[in-house]
This record gives sequence, C-alpha cells and structure tokens, in this order.
Amino acid sequence: MSAKKIIVVGGGAAGIMAAGQASSNDIEVTLIEKKNRLGSKIAISGKGRCNLTNAGDIASFVSYYPGNGKFLFASLKELDNYELIKFFEKYKVKTKIERGGRIFPEADDSEVIVKALKKYLTDSGVNITCGQQVKKIIINDQKVQGVQLEGSEEIIRANSVIVATGGSSYPGTGSTGDGYLFAKQAGHKVIEPLPALVPLRTLEEWPKTLSGLTLRNVTASIWVDGRKKGEEFGEMLFTHFGLSGPIILTLSRIASHALQETQEVQIKINLKPALTIEQLDHRLQRDFDKYKNKQFHNSLDDLLPKSMIPVIIKLSEINPDKPVNELKKEERKRLVYLFQNLSLNITSTLGMGVAIVTAGGVDVKQINPATMESRLVKGLFWAGEVIDIDGLTGGYNLQAAFSTGYKAGRRAAEYVLTTV
Ligand SMILES: Cc1cc2nc3c(=O)[nH]c(=O)nc-3n(C[C@H](O)[C@H](O)[C@H](O)COP(=O)(O)OP(=O)(O)OC[C@H]3O[C@@H](n4cnc5c(N)ncnc54)[C@H](O)[C@@H]3O)c2cc1C
Repeated sequence: MSAKKIIVVGGGAAGIMAAGQASSNDIEVTLIEKKNRLGSKIAISGKGRCNLTNAGDIASFVSYYPGNGKFLFASLKELDNYELIKFFEKYKVKTKIERGGRIFPEADDSEVIVKALKKYLTDSGVNITCGQQVKKIIINDQKVQGVQLEGSEEIIRANSVIVATGGSSYPGTGSTGDGYLFAKQAGHKVIEPLPALVPLRTLEEWPKTLSGLTLRNVTASIWVDGRKKGEEFGEMLFTHFGLSGPIILTLSRIASHALQETQEVQIKINLKPALTIEQLDHRLQRDFDKYKNKQFHNSLDDLLPKSMIPVIIKLSEINPDKPVNELKKEERKRLVYLFQNLSLNITSTLGMGVAIVTAGGVDVKQINPATMESRLVKGLFWAGEVIDIDGLTGGYNLQAAFSTGYKAGRRAAEYVLTTV
C-alpha cells in the first residue's frame, strides 16, 4: 500500500514545525532543504541566542506585526507563545524572559533550538533531505502533484506540498526568494518583497564620526515628504553608514516602502523627549549659568555624550569659542530646536543582505488563514516568512514562522487524510 505523501520545502522554523506536525503513521513526510544543514537562520537569530518568542499576552501579538498581523490570528491561537515554550521544554530546552518580554533559551545558544528541532523531526519520523533545491512545484488542474528538484526532470510525487522557503532577506541562510517564483507559477500574487528591520544609510556624513555611540531614551520619528509617518522611543545607534539600533530598525519598514517611490525620507531624533521646549530651554539656561565663564564648546557636558558635542556645535553654527555669557537668546533657542529635531536624510536601507525580515511576499488574500492552504491550488500550503507577514523585533517573527508552520502541517495532514 502506498502511503500518503507530503513534501515540505524549506528547513527553517516554519518548515521544520510543519513537517513534524504533518507526519504520522499514515502520512510519509519529506522535508527538502537546499542548504546542507537545517535551521541556518535560526542559528544566527537573536545574535546567536535565538529570541524564539515573546512573553506578552498573545491577544496583543497581532499588533506587533506591521505586516498583516490579523492574518496570523488563527495560527497564533493554535500555537501560542506558551505552547511554543512548552514544545521546547519537551525537548529539554529551558527558557528565560529578558527585557521587553523577549524569550531566549537559558543556554543563550540558538544551537539548542536547532538541536531540539532536529530531535523533533527524527521523533516524528520525517525523512530529511538536505543539499537539494526544489526548482518547481508541479500543479495540474489546480491541484498539487509534487515537486521537481534542481538538476532533475523527475517528478517527486506528493499529495500535498507545504512551501516554507522563507523571504529573501539574509540570502546566505538559503532564503533567496524561491518561494515567490513558486507562488507566481501557481497563480498567486506576490506583494513586492522589501527589506524590513534593516539599518538606514544617511546623506549626512556626521553619523560616521559617532560610529558606535548608542543613544538611550530618545525618540526617532520618520518623515516622508514632510509628513510624520511614525515615531519610536528607546535605543538607537550611530554607525559608519548611518543609523541602526532597535527604534531605527522598527522605523526602517516605512523608509523601505517610501524609498521605493523615491520619496524624501528623514529621521528626526529628539535627544530630550522627556522635556518640553520650555523645560529644555530652562535646563540650558541653568547650564549656561553654571558654565558662564567658559567657552561654548565646554558648556554642554551635562547634556550630551562627549562625542556628540562637536557635532551639535557644528550643526548649531554657533562659534565654539564664544564665551557662554555672550550667547544670544536666539542661539539658545536654536540649540533647543536642534536637540529635539536632529534631522537626517535617508538615502537607502542597507538592503536585503542584512535585513532581519522581508516585508512583502505571498499575498495573504489568496491564503486561507484557518488552514494556510492556497485559495487557488488544492493541496498547496504556505508557512513562514514566504507569506506577506512581518513582525517587529522581540521574537515575533520566529513565533509567526512556528505558528503558521504548525497550522500548515496539521491542516495539510487533515487534507491528505480526508480528501486523497
Ligand atoms: C540576523 C537575523 C536575526 C534574527 N533574529 C530573530 C530573533 O531573534 N527572533 C525572531 O523572532 N526572529 C528573528 N529573525 C527573523 C526570523 O529568523 C525569521 O523570520 C524566521 O526564521 C523565518 O523562518 P522561515 O522558516 O519562514 O524561513 P527561513 O528560516 O528563511 O527558512 C527557509 C528555508 O528554506 C530553504 N529554501 C529556500 N528555497 C528553497 C528551495 N528552493 N528548496 C529547498 N529549500 C529551500 C532555505 O535554505 C531555508 O533554510 C532574525 C533574522 C535574521 C536574518
């Protein structure tokens, strides 16, 4: 008797989770991964520590996905953050909660996650094929038939195929956008993939001089063609090319989209967001009083990190050697403005090569969120970042990959058992 067969394309978080859920005594599951190892992206995630999910209330999770959070509702409900933690506990992975609810393995090592997932696949009886690239999904009469591998014309038959090939960011991990080609071949619409959670390049050269400087408790707002499109409070970083750090990564998605249409994009940094203009002015007056016998360039130590002082002085166009007691009110007001509106023109993102996630992908309108099955092709399921979903930093992207993989695996198995 020939077993019912499911092929899962892609051995990342989504594909691995899907494969294990789909496998049973009645269904033979084969996971095909083009790299020589499984879980390459998991291994580098969270700076090698793997922020696998977030401890927040699952009902609030959807708001952390600027890309189609609502689509994830059903998947997150079926495998929520605490079920995911329990899943890993079964494989002896203990976890801990860090700042912002971020959940990491206690071992601070993403390899324990990859190892657990490999054990899960073996325990589930999944056939694993690494080092083989799927080149085509075979579809007949709007029904999936199997796949073809690179370098072969043979059709590997399957009753269902789950595509979990990831996005096109960080292509070194294997996610080179193959799933988008499969989607187009299957008649699916693909929303243009763009880099998100990605550092930004600035026109101005001065961030270079501050490379490595982290600012905490600041706000950064993003402006497109003179209109404010978003604002974040927290931590950011100056780099040799421009801006990075958590709040910049969050805003980068807006920059990525706007720059597509060659719109003018600016980031404005408020170095003192807790103070009103008047409060900051008073604060400056106090400091200027304290340092009244010094030169201007020696009067800002209490307000700014040392390396920022020359930058602010240059931008203020105030003579650095001017005695503080000769500073004019208008000059002080200019400084106040600068402290709260440090503007930088954004020329580009750093691109897909280093983006943490891809915004865009297979249009969610053509996927049933209750099953993850294509609305166009029977037996074709989608999971993970290949879909047009993207979350913020904090463990949301891996949770989305695991949850959609979980659902796709289970529903594909049901499909195969009930309709084939
Ligand atoms: C540097 C970095 C750090 C990150 N840190 C975090 C974090 O800490 N927390 C978090 O939540 N998210 C993080 N992310 C995002 C998160 O890792 C991804 O969103 C998630 O891993 C996507 O999982 P996936 O299974 O959908 O895709 P991937 O992990 O990209 O897996 C897709 C797999 O499919 C394979 N494949 C592609 N095409 C084919 C083909 N034709 N045939 C066969 N196989 C194929 C690829 O080789 C790859 O292994 C990070 C991302 C990066 C780049």
